[in-house]
Amino acid sequence: MLCADCASLLAYAEQRLQKCPFGEDKPTCVKCPVHCYKPACREQVKVVMRYAGPRLLFRRPILAVRHLLDERKPVPDQPRFKRRVSTDSG
Ligand code: SF4
Repeated sequence: MLCADCASLLAYAEQRLQKCPFGEDKPTCVKCPVHCYKPACREQVKVVMRYAGPRLLFRRPILAVRHLLDERKPVPDQPRFKRRVSTDSG
């Protein structure tokens, strides 16, 4: 169960992910040269990641390792302006 602020941030993050111009080549957002998040949301995400990042290693170790590996991948120079395929109808 998320509080209203966290639910709103999650919805915003999912929206940004859907519109990410890097598509499947997406770097981790912290290393992104575009930084599409509005400043207030970016600060909120930093707070969330400071809290959740270390805990993720214990609760979802595979996800945590994948995220750490993603952070080591080279960042694409230019977005490809690909869009993820939406599963939403309409
Ligand atoms: S910050 Fe960069 S990588 Fe993250 S969703 Fe926005 S454009 Fe994509």
